[in-house]
Formats: sequence, C-alpha cells, structure tokens
Amino acid sequence: MNKNDIFTVTIEDMGAEGEGIGKVDGFTWFVKDAVIGDVVNVKAMKVKKNYGYARLLEILEPSTYRVEPKCEFHRQCGGCQIQALDYKQQLLFKENKVRNNLKRIGGFHDLTIRPVIGMENPYHYRNKAQFPIRQDKDGNIITGFYAGRSHTVIANTKCYLGDDINEEILDIVLFFMKKYKISAYDEETGKGLVRHVLIRVGFTTREIMVCLIINGKELPNSQKLVDCLQKIKGMTSISININKEITNVILGETVKTLWGQDYITDYIGNVKYQISPLSFYQVNPVQTKKLYETALSFAKLTGDEVVWDLYCGIGTISLFLAQKAKKVMGVEIVPQAIEDAKKNAQINGITNASFYVGKAEEVLPNKFKNDGEYAEVIVVDPPRKGCDETLLDTIAQMNPKRVVYVSCDSATLARDLRYLCDRGYEVKEVQPVDMFGHTVHCEVIVKLEKH
Ligand code: SAH
Repeated sequence: MNKNDIFTVTIEDMGAEGEGIGKVDGFTWFVKDAVIGDVVNVKAMKVKKNYGYARLLEILEPSTYRVEPKCEFHRQCGGCQIQALDYKQQLLFKENKVRNNLKRIGGFHDLTIRPVIGMENPYHYRNKAQFPIRQDKDGNIITGFYAGRSHTVIANTKCYLGDDINEEILDIVLFFMKKYKISAYDEETGKGLVRHVLIRVGFTTREIMVCLIINGKELPNSQKLVDCLQKIKGMTSISININKEITNVILGETVKTLWGQDYITDYIGNVKYQISPLSFYQVNPVQTKKLYETALSFAKLTGDEVVWDLYCGIGTISLFLAQKAKKVMGVEIVPQAIEDAKKNAQINGITNASFYVGKAEEVLPNKFKNDGEYAEVIVVDPPRKGCDETLLDTIAQMNPKRVVYVSCDSATLARDLRYLCDRGYEVKEVQPVDMFGHTVHCEVIVKLEKH
C-alpha cells in the first residue's frame, strides 16, 4: 500500500487516543474518527514499516456502536475524540484502556477492574471554559475551540460539554468588542487586546464568573460590557486578568474585579469552595463527588487516622476526608493553591487539616525523617507524569495501612502501582471514573493495602 491509496478497512479495535484500528493483509492502519465495528473507506496518508495512518473518507457500514454526534465540529475540534461512539461503549473503551495499561506496563494480569462510573448526562458537564478570542481571515472577531493539535480557532460558541450559558455570554462579549472596536489578540504578532474569555459556573449555586484575559492594563468601555453581563441571572463576578506575556499560558498573575465579588462559591458534597479566576477547581463537580466518595470509602476512615493527601491542589480531597479522619495533612507545589486550601478549610470550619507548600517528594521525606511524622492512610493524586520514586520510597518506608491512588493517567499509574507492589503493597480495588465524557481521558482510583 502506498501513500494516497484508497481502500476499505474494518475497524476492530480502538487505540489510546480514540483512533480506530484495523488490519489489511496483516498491515495495521490507524484511522482517526472511525469507531470499533465500522467498515470504512480510507486514504493512506502516512505509510511506515509495519503500520500506517489513513484518513476516513466514507463510512460504508456504520458500527452498531456509532451514534450521531451532537456537535458538527466533532471531527475538527481538539476537545472531543470519541463523540461518535455510544456512551456505554465509551465507558467500556476506557475500562479496557485501564486494563491494558495495568497489564502491559504494570504486569497486573488478573486484577478485577470495576465498571467505570459513568455520568447520568454526559453533556454539559464542564463548569469551566476558556475561549480564545481571535480575528479570522475576513477581519471578524471570533471565538471557539482549537482544532486538534493546533492553535487554529474553529468558530463555535456552542460546545455540548460546557454550560448553556456560555453561548449567551460569548455573544455579549463579541458584540461588545465589535461595537467598541476592541481588538482580538494575535498569537503571531503578540498584538491585539482580548486573548481569552474564562467562564465558570457553580453547578450547585448557579453563580457565574466571567473574566476577560487581556494583553494590556485596561479594557476600554468596560462599564458597557458590565452593564450587559450583569443582567444575566446568577452573574456574580466580572473581572479582567492581565497577561502581556507571549506564551501559551492562558492566565496572567493580576486580576482586577470590574463588578461583583472576586470569587464565586460552589460545593462538592457538603464542602464549600470559593473560586477565583486563578484558582484550580475540578471541572466536573458531579463526577468529582463520586470520585471523592470512592476515595473516602477506600480510605476506610474511622475517625482516628492520620492522613496525608499528596498533590492536594486546593485541598479538595483533604477537606472531604478531614470530616472522617483525626487529622489530614495536604502537600502541594503551587503556593496559591495552598492559600486557597487554608481558606477553604476555614470557611468550612474544618480545623483538623493543615497544608504545606512544596514538592511531595521533598516535603514528605523531610517530615518523616526529621519530624517523625507518620500516616495510617496516604492519598496521592499526581499530575499525568505520576509520582516521583523518592516519594514512593518514602511511602513504603512510612508503611501506612492503606494507600489510595487517584490517577488521571493509567500508564503512569500502572508503573507506580508496580513499584509499590514490589515493596509490600497489594492492589485491592480498581475503580475508574469518567470525568470527561467524549474524550479519551479516564480517572482511576485504586486502593492498596499492606500484604
Ligand atoms: N487533589 C487535587 C488536585 C490534583 S491535580 C484535587 O482533587 O483537586 C495535581 C496537583 O499536583 C496540581 O495541583 C499540581 O499543582 C500538583 N503538583 C504537581 N507536581 C507536584 C509535586 N511534585 N509535589 C506536589 N504537588 C505537585
């Protein structure tokens, strides 16, 4: 088979990035946007020694698992990868991905993996959206989403993963920019004013936050924008954030509130959070609650335990567990997040949680070796790259009864579980939770106990 050849392939599997996989004469083809069970016509784009990439041209026989995607941009947009796959199958796909990683990378061959905890409604689940503002070729100001693996903006204000209110807010912002001739940021030249619009909605409280990220100190005629936005039911905080750096990082350090409060309030379970434009906060609060409830049940707390929550962010897991533990210590690398964690403890009247700024792999060994700290339960929730070996060594030495590992990447999870299992721990439960429907991402929560 050569480049540009057109041929038919039956999709028999799906890869980690959601791409369809099929074989023709023993040669493997990866086909983006094809789902398991499809028979498709494709065009060879890149041919390697043992495999190739082909572009989907036509679906000859749709898979029984194929559904009509709600979003017309589902193929171009970098946000969703598997919207064309029935949601039940998406969950099975994720379960398999976790199983394969645990087997292949961790060498765990006969673990029972619980069925993925799915969403009741896999749409409109995100409480946060950051829309880039750009000018298109014809000079129109547009907003939308980045196309896959690029910074080209697809004009679209209606994303089915976000809150319905986003559309109304974006229309107001675009209208305002047009009316007062306010420029959009240009990534190539670093010129132009408005870079992004950040919208957050408290799903429990329905409080709304709008923050315009600008490449300058002031937003001309901002009062006019405020006048329109404040009429929206639930509007609680309107602000600008200043980011004059030439960078892909969305937010700068300075926030100026234009109207209302500096923050919105939301709840996960019965814990209340104050969220400012710069705060980290879980984007799917409904599934986060299920995740934390699982963490709580895996931790099996009776009220007497000392718990360490490593990579604690704004202390969400710490505060959830503190209600059932003797005391909880959280460790997080971002100082601002620790400030938020302390404030969140305070507004909830939680007095048995303390927080430390630093690298988990430095703070924990230090507290253990120098201060004689111990733990009955250790929770880790690292970023995608997983835990540092120094940290895993210290955990093994501290010898807690239980370790609860919350992971957003089952590949590094598998590696770290192997490390702990070679040092006296045993995997007792594996529970995947779907926090990001229509994408290939999957959270997993694992309970480990001493042999
Ligand atoms: N447990 C939190 C956040 C988890 S996200 C929650 O459920 O909301 C992972 C967190 O780890 C991020 O907040 C990140 O800033 C932090 N982090 C990254 N590397 C770290 C390190 N080496 N030590 C401590 N925290 C780290």
